[in-house]
Amino acid sequence: MAIAHLAKSFGGHAVLKDVSLTVPAGGVVALIGPSGSGKSTLLRCINLLVVPDAGEVRVGGDAFRFGPGARLPGTKALARFRAGTGMVFQHFNLFPHLTALQNVMEGPVTVRRRPKAEAEAQGRALLAKVGLADKAEQYPSRLSGGQKQRVAIARALAMEPDVMLFDEATSALDPELVGEVLGVMRALAADGMTMVIVTHEIAFAREVADRVVFLRDGVVVEEGPARSLIDAPRHPDTRAFLAHFH
Ligand code: ADP
Ligand code: MG
Repeated sequence: MAIAHLAKSFGGHAVLKDVSLTVPAGGVVALIGPSGSGKSTLLRCINLLVVPDAGEVRVGGDAFRFGPGARLPGTKALARFRAGTGMVFQHFNLFPHLTALQNVMEGPVTVRRRPKAEAEAQGRALLAKVGLADKAEQYPSRLSGGQKQRVAIARALAMEPDVMLFDEATSALDPELVGEVLGVMRALAADGMTMVIVTHEIAFAREVADRVVFLRDGVVVEEGPARSLIDAPRHPDTRAFLAHFH
């Protein structure tokens, strides 16, 4: 997965300025930075939930260019592309009227036109993978925050994404529920999933990510191997930011 020279403004406010980032297949990148630095916008540009003003986005076999003269992708191409990028949000956004299993089956059945029996078998296997085999028939209202977030991860995985994007997936959870979600993310990384993780869990980023990118005011200020960037940041802004976590 790669983005190159990405730019995005909202009403004259430049939120992303010439951001480039490459994640090799199976690579895990943690994106850190202060609130308002453009982390969510960057993730949303990677799956084209937000359409960049300029630059290039490549995921799997798809590549899109934006900017003067570039042709915007059609609705169909966009929908197909988005389905191949699994996004997990801070708030789980599960369908409340569907069970855990039905939530996981929804995309494969309606978007991919998979036979129901096949989608169900895959859905049960994915719920087992996130430790929720016994919650398949439960509605979201009966699940804890950590369980809901694990269903959301299983739902994203059901679309067999080329990359998984996590936007502060544990920020809304009670502290005692954070570990179970990080555990699932750690297992996915070990499994070879390509991942971009926006997180304030610095210890987790250090342990699980290959590389860390520090974003501030829409600019990549520093990027490097996870351990060296976190243990010995070179840029004063990175140092100042990381000092909040000690
Ligand atoms: P982060 O996730 O790092 O906190 P965001 O990407 O959410 O940062 O936001 C970066 C900046 O872009 C903020 O100033 C925010 O207000 C602005 N922004 C984000 N999305 C929109 C939008 N849809 N319309 C207008 N401004 C936005
Ligand atoms: Mg954000």
